[in-house]
Amino acid sequence: MQFINISHPEQSVSFAQAVVTGLGKGQGLFFPGQLQPLAEVEGLLELDFVSRSKVILQHLVGDSMSAEVLQTCVEQAFNFPLEMSAVGDGTLALELFHGPSLAFKDFGARFMAQCLAGFNAGRRTTILTATSGDTGAAVALAFYAQPGIDVVVLYPQGKVTPLQEKLFCTLGGNIRTIAIEDDFDACQKLVKESFDDQALVTEVGLNSANSINVARLLAQVCYYFEAVARLPHGRAPVFSVPSGNFGNMTAGLLAHAIGLPVKRMIAATNRNDTVPRYLRTGKWDPRPTVATITNAMDISLPNNFPRVLELGERHGLPLQDLLTSFSVSDDETLEAVRALDAMGYLADPHSALAWKALQVSLQDGETGVFLCTAHPAKFKETLEGALERPVPLPPELQSVAEKEVLSTTMAADFAALKRFLLNQ
Ligand SMILES: *Cc1c(COP(=O)(O)O)cnc(C)c1O
Repeated sequence: MQFINISHPEQSVSFAQAVVTGLGKGQGLFFPGQLQPLAEVEGLLELDFVSRSKVILQHLVGDSMSAEVLQTCVEQAFNFPLEMSAVGDGTLALELFHGPSLAFKDFGARFMAQCLAGFNAGRRTTILTATSGDTGAAVALAFYAQPGIDVVVLYPQGKVTPLQEKLFCTLGGNIRTIAIEDDFDACQKLVKESFDDQALVTEVGLNSANSINVARLLAQVCYYFEAVARLPHGRAPVFSVPSGNFGNMTAGLLAHAIGLPVKRMIAATNRNDTVPRYLRTGKWDPRPTVATITNAMDISLPNNFPRVLELGERHGLPLQDLLTSFSVSDDETLEAVRALDAMGYLADPHSALAWKALQVSLQDGETGVFLCTAHPAKFKETLEGALERPVPLPPELQSVAEKEVLSTTMAADFAALKRFLLNQ
């Protein structure tokens, strides 16, 4: 399988090169050049999660990884459970937050860390990543104490929850964190500027672990298959995906492109509604990012959207029929949190927002699956406000809650960041 740079299709690389390089020429994103359908999807759905994921990923990465290496990577990356539970009639919650950072990003970050360790043996590597909240923890925990790898995480100061911050800014060692005095889009821009500086890229062995990196996307394809495998035979569900950078959505569409039965995909956004407006009007008209209670989705320039379009243009997915998108306000999200709680289901605001969009869109007779992307306790303050009762912390969060934040503070200034990266 070759991966092409979608901005410069003449650049075509192996999976290993795409993972190690992160971004292509001219900041272009790598994406599979061709997508063949999987043989025997029915049989595949009978396998357990790890065995099936190995087959799917081998299909996608091609001969960049031997069967043995891939087996180890998948086993080590996907070493935590995934749950699915019924929430009302015809609706299921796919809980993707049972990994070490309590967010779905563990799937992508852990698989990517495994791949990089294999592809990059011996070379100095600096992982530079921007986070709107959960990527930071997933990436930091996936790479923590890995020999030869330094991690630098940028995040918007004051715009991640105190608990999110504690999860990735208290580790020390090979993990350094910078609070940027601006919003997430500014952090993302600093990462892009760094990758544009060839001297810097070479000097520190720069790599991104954002959803820019194609390894993360491919890993996320696997849990869509698991969801369908757990449904009664022959059901093609409607998936509702709480979307910010659209990596999760891209993975779902990719799963469908290689043969997973899917009825429809819903991209649920908060008030940062560039995509729902685009799908309605055909105009790409990003507005300034606004802060919401679903902060991991406070993004008005979704990085992965070109990949979504690529799935339509190059790979022939009927996006017009397949993809719908709704914007959900903070008030509606809080109402959804309360409605779910009344049904006996505690959801974090991002997951509740996806449920709300599903409620709006789901027709009689359809099966809906909403993706639960974060553990509710990560958004304890918001939930306690909405529900007026205490929300207990799981042990993973209890232990970090007391630790000291070790971050540096910095203006959104590329020259300052460059000095920081070079002086290590
Ligand atoms: C990152 C994140 C999202 C958004 O996922 P994308 O792949 O960026 O669209 C949604 N919910 C939570 C909790 C997240 O951490």
